[in-house]
Amino acid sequence: MGEGIVMALKQARSQKAYEKALSLMPGGVNSPVRAFRAVGGTPFFADHGEGPYLYDIDGNRYIDYLMSWGPLIWGHAHPEIVRAVTEAAARGMSFGVPTEWETRMAELVISLVPSIEVVRMVNSGTEATMSALRLARAYTGRPVIVKFEGCYHGHADSLLVKAGSGVATFGLPDSPGVPEATAKTTLTAPYNDLAAVESLFAAHGERIAAVIVEPVAGNMGCVLPEPGFLAGLRALTERYGALLIFDEVMTGFRVALGGAQARFSVRPDLTTLGKVIGAGMPVGAYGGRREIMSLIAPDGPVYQAGTLSGNPLAMAAGWTSLSMLAAAGDALYERMERYGQALVDAFVALGRRKGIPTFGVAVGGMFGLFFHEGPVTDYAAAKACDTRMYARFFHAMLEEGVALAPSQLEAGFLSAVHTEAELAETVAALERAFARL
Ligand SMILES: *Cc1c(COP(=O)(O)O)cnc(C)c1O
Repeated sequence: MGEGIVMALKQARSQKAYEKALSLMPGGVNSPVRAFRAVGGTPFFADHGEGPYLYDIDGNRYIDYLMSWGPLIWGHAHPEIVRAVTEAAARGMSFGVPTEWETRMAELVISLVPSIEVVRMVNSGTEATMSALRLARAYTGRPVIVKFEGCYHGHADSLLVKAGSGVATFGLPDSPGVPEATAKTTLTAPYNDLAAVESLFAAHGERIAAVIVEPVAGNMGCVLPEPGFLAGLRALTERYGALLIFDEVMTGFRVALGGAQARFSVRPDLTTLGKVIGAGMPVGAYGGRREIMSLIAPDGPVYQAGTLSGNPLAMAAGWTSLSMLAAAGDALYERMERYGQALVDAFVALGRRKGIPTFGVAVGGMFGLFFHEGPVTDYAAAKACDTRMYARFFHAMLEEGVALAPSQLEAGFLSAVHTEAELAETVAALERAFARL
């Protein structure tokens, strides 16, 4: 029997569930990459998760490196986080007046993220970046923003330009529906290309409100900033009076406790957060220098609001997760990186043995696996990867009980509850998967 047929039998209930979902939701999903279009086949449906394991509705168990696309740094259904959320829920789901949870959360986020003096909670990463841009434009009185090819900052109109990730997977350079006038206010440069940013500033310096960047890119696979790139952006934005925005929706509390800005010692003016900050609940945040944040309503004229922002369940989950991270400290990030590096090393060595070009990166609790000889430093390189090989590899790993991201242009995620045992099992799975490539 072919591999595809074996898996189809093992996932019969998921297939049925997907067929039903297809008639009711666009592509059967509520977020495009979940539909597996980049790797073919049909998605499996989650039944429940426990620690590093995800179980589908057919009863298959996977060691999970998707981790809900990053938020689950404490794994699935961590007892402390579940307890915090259920206790909060029993007291009321939402109030629409302030709670002390919000203050507790703000205090903790400000203490952990070096550049944040004042913070505003929102409900998603998209909302955070969209709001940060509005604020940057208001603060500088300038219309234009600079972003990097292959960086994804959520689906706000002005950020859906060369946006990597799911957008790239679907070959939509710019989404239809984004007004041309809006797209025109977004300038793009290749990631890690400081000279390109310098020429954008030379030509349009007085009109640029902000440079927004993923300080480690995680939406074109996992791509590291080259030495001097982030510091160079800091210097350029300062010289031209523009703001530097680190989109740490993925990297925040994930590449280090204080995010990429702590790890690479560069202080942005504004930071956006998401994913890990909510521990699986819908949370985003943006924050930065007091002087800039004081423009936000009701202190200032820049409007931004949310009926469910700072929701008590979300704050309880996020606060509990971040407190546990703070207690675990740097040792946790070092261990996750060691495990990620071990996975990358095994992947690269197995590829080399078979004559298949492979390259990988591990940073904190994030990693990237590329079918490319490397190094992958920008979107052009990331796009040149062998996506067909990745699709075969992805399905082979699924059959071996390991869930990776269903696209090569996405990062992989470790958690605090992945242990040596899962690592060893994953390396064994890699060996068997490569034997079939
Ligand atoms: C996921 C992501 C976003 C969007 O966050 P959502 O919660 O999906 O809206 C923005 N920026 C980066 C860097 C991300 O990884």
